[in-house]
Amino acid sequence: MQTAVVTGGSGFLGSHLCDKLISNNISVICIDNLLTGSLDNIQHLFGNPLFRYIKHDITNFIHVPGRVDFVLHFASPASPLDYHQLPIETLKVGSMGTHKALGLAKEKKARFLLASTSEVYGDPLEHPQKENYWGNVNPIGPRGVYDEAKRFAEALTMAYQRYHGVSTRIVRIFNTFGPRMRLNDGRAIPAFFDQALKNKPITVFGDGSQTRSFIYVDDEIDGILKLLFSNENEPVNIGNPEEITIKQIAEEIIKISESGSKIIYEVLPVDDPKVRQPDITKAKTILGWEPKINRLDGLRRTMEYFKEKILIDKK
Ligand code: UDP
Repeated sequence: MQTAVVTGGSGFLGSHLCDKLISNNISVICIDNLLTGSLDNIQHLFGNPLFRYIKHDITNFIHVPGRVDFVLHFASPASPLDYHQLPIETLKVGSMGTHKALGLAKEKKARFLLASTSEVYGDPLEHPQKENYWGNVNPIGPRGVYDEAKRFAEALTMAYQRYHGVSTRIVRIFNTFGPRMRLNDGRAIPAFFDQALKNKPITVFGDGSQTRSFIYVDDEIDGILKLLFSNENEPVNIGNPEEITIKQIAEEIIKISESGSKIIYEVLPVDDPKVRQPDITKAKTILGWEPKINRLDGLRRTMEYFKEKILIDKK
């Protein structure tokens, strides 16, 4: 049986990845120090013979006994609020953590997959973003801790591929949403649902004309696994090209949650990208992948999860 190590396996994306790997009959070793992840996300997997959990900070040497076929490196604070509050940890997991995870892959002759990000494009001057765009990142701004850590992680991954012959994959993940996001992680979709479902003001930053392109988690995970099993060893964008302004997404969320909330405008965070949209030609061509779930369906499914969370939190 094949075995995958998932760093950050109890986080939002990591836990969905664990589920999907297990459903493909791949056994999973989930490593997480629970800095931003939660055992709630993997509770249902305890007791499954294909699942093991190790509490560990992967910026330190990772020891895993036995066979490992895949190392999927998903550990990192990932919301702007998290990496503002955890700047050093974010830099360490992207640099030292990636080094340790690559070292494990090299030792085990395993295939390595890096969870990279659309943030490597920074506040992009090319639109939509293709994989060959080098980006526009402020290294010393507040987002630099995440963006530069991920850019370094990509460079290190390519170096291990070129100089150590490790089989590597790099996915550039665009704004993903769905169940298991934390209501208070500060990102737009959970924040707006939290506010809408509690009839509180919806905090749109700036004038809300900045754009993002949101992908539902199942589509994202599907694309990531297609990339893992492909032969493509350079970065691939996995995102939904449907672009929307932040004001529009706030309005959509107010509508589907039948909320009485009103939008209020707050200061735009420093270096907040003005636009973001993946060009997914490469994923379509090489992986035969494209997103299938439309945003409104995804938002409804996510709302059900958040509603339940709010009820549990109340108890
Ligand atoms: N945003 C907002 N209100 C919030 C949270 C976020 O208007 O309460 C905006 C944020 O400034 C950005 C966009 O929504 O323009 C997406 O932010 P998010 O934190 O979800 O992810 P990002 O794409 O910036 O990493």
